[in-house]
Amino acid sequence: MPTTFPNYINGEWRAPAATFENRNPANTDEVVGLFAKGTARDVHDAAAAAQAALPSWSAMNGPARGALLFKVADILESRFQQLGEEMTREEGKTLPEAKGEVRRAINIFRYFGGEGSRMPGFLVPSERERVHMFAIRKPIGVVGLVTPWNFPIAIPAWKMAPALICGNTIVLKPASAAPLSAWRIVEACHEAGIPKGVVNFVAGSGGTLGQALVDAPPLKAVSFTGSCQVGNWLHAEASKRRLRIQLEMGGKNPTIVLGDADFQSAVENVVNAAFFSTGQKCTATSRAIVEDSIYDKFVAAITERTRKLKVGNGMEPGIDIGPAVDAGQLETDLRYIEIGRKEAGEPLTGGRRLTGGAYDKGYFIEPTIFANVTENMTIAQEEIFGPVLAVMRAKDFEDAMRIANNIPFGLSASIQTTHLSRVYEYIYRMDAGLLTVNLPSAGVEYQLPFGGTKDSSFGPKEQGPAAFDFYSDYKTVYLKY
Ligand code: NAP
Ligand code: MG
Repeated sequence: MPTTFPNYINGEWRAPAATFENRNPANTDEVVGLFAKGTARDVHDAAAAAQAALPSWSAMNGPARGALLFKVADILESRFQQLGEEMTREEGKTLPEAKGEVRRAINIFRYFGGEGSRMPGFLVPSERERVHMFAIRKPIGVVGLVTPWNFPIAIPAWKMAPALICGNTIVLKPASAAPLSAWRIVEACHEAGIPKGVVNFVAGSGGTLGQALVDAPPLKAVSFTGSCQVGNWLHAEASKRRLRIQLEMGGKNPTIVLGDADFQSAVENVVNAAFFSTGQKCTATSRAIVEDSIYDKFVAAITERTRKLKVGNGMEPGIDIGPAVDAGQLETDLRYIEIGRKEAGEPLTGGRRLTGGAYDKGYFIEPTIFANVTENMTIAQEEIFGPVLAVMRAKDFEDAMRIANNIPFGLSASIQTTHLSRVYEYIYRMDAGLLTVNLPSAGVEYQLPFGGTKDSSFGPKEQGPAAFDFYSDYKTVYLKY
């Protein structure tokens, strides 16, 4: 019998009336767990509990809240191996990638735990005599957090930890495809002794719970990571009530490869960013924009490198790429590959679902490269969120910059070059929220702001000190002495 993971409301594990299955995408025979099918009522109760817990949680001093976050980090760390394995089983990414993500979640809790002792405000001189003026931070209240499946522990962590350290109380709605990793954080919060009602967890269908969340009277803000479609809908609903909102959504991220790049590292960086985690990173490279002078050689090299990648169950050593997360994502990948065939011809490598033997039990797909993709093709414009790379030819640096920016999205971007001036040109002119130079476009740390621009994002950035901009407000004080 698979384990049932209940919702967590007001410090209690609520026995579910109905459940849904969380299955392993590498072996669909395996049910990783049964999760509560939350209802609008559950969301209502969770928001009410969060509201009731708010006064005492926000009145607790910052270092004391920080100490609880450190405890959460310690508990997660004590289960490091288990959490990594569970993530691979529920989401499909390889075990090293999953463990790296668990490590990140632990670090995030420690980072924001430390912020409890800093919580910077402003102290500035007044124009007036004997006036002391300053601004302190205050929490915004009950915050709804809605997270996707692709980073099932890091994204909940990078929303929960700053929300909590600022003194807010939360209702977390995890992705249905991979809710266990987020559940483990909530379990750790419970064990760490975070008071009842401060953290609430309601799993279940996004549509039902999303509506209930934006309708819940105590709610003051929503932080969402996921698709543009859901994000835009949430934005419209939240605006009706003037909820504070933060959206991190899709991307179509470019890597520019110039003729003067360190060739071998450019090959590795593009293949890594395009295909690792099955291309299911919001910061993955889906467009390689390659300067004409090295185009043919580069395309040949990434094709050869990609053919060596091993696709399989991410629990096995030596596997580079796991499965697509579910049948729906696999179907999307295959549909875009068919569109790509019509637009750009047969892919240089990949292009098919993998079948036979153990592959038949999962959603495995070959990493796929289309060459000679041009700007207006669908596969150059729309997010696929799978292991599909569109390679585009650029006449020179200026042409590459123009192509790279000719997209409604602006999440991440990368350039591979040894030309210092072009690096700076790119830094100032590339319209994306996250830039890398001579690194893969994916792979961020938690100490700096995270988020995109254009259609990719809305609202203040996440992570690092920027997280305070969303999760806290200022109270400004003028004092005559
Ligand atoms: P999704 O379908 O938008 O789902 C994201 C979350 O929203 C899930 O928890 C989902 O619940 C929930 N949801 C669904 N419908 C909702 C509604 N009407 N109201 C409120 N919540 C609702 O996205 P996904 O497929 O999980 O994730 C892939 C997408 O996320 C990609 O577009 C990717 O680019 C984006 N992403 C962006 C970033 C970033 O930082 N910019 C990071 C990671 C991923 P259910 O699971 O129950 O449907
Ligand atoms: Mg799953």
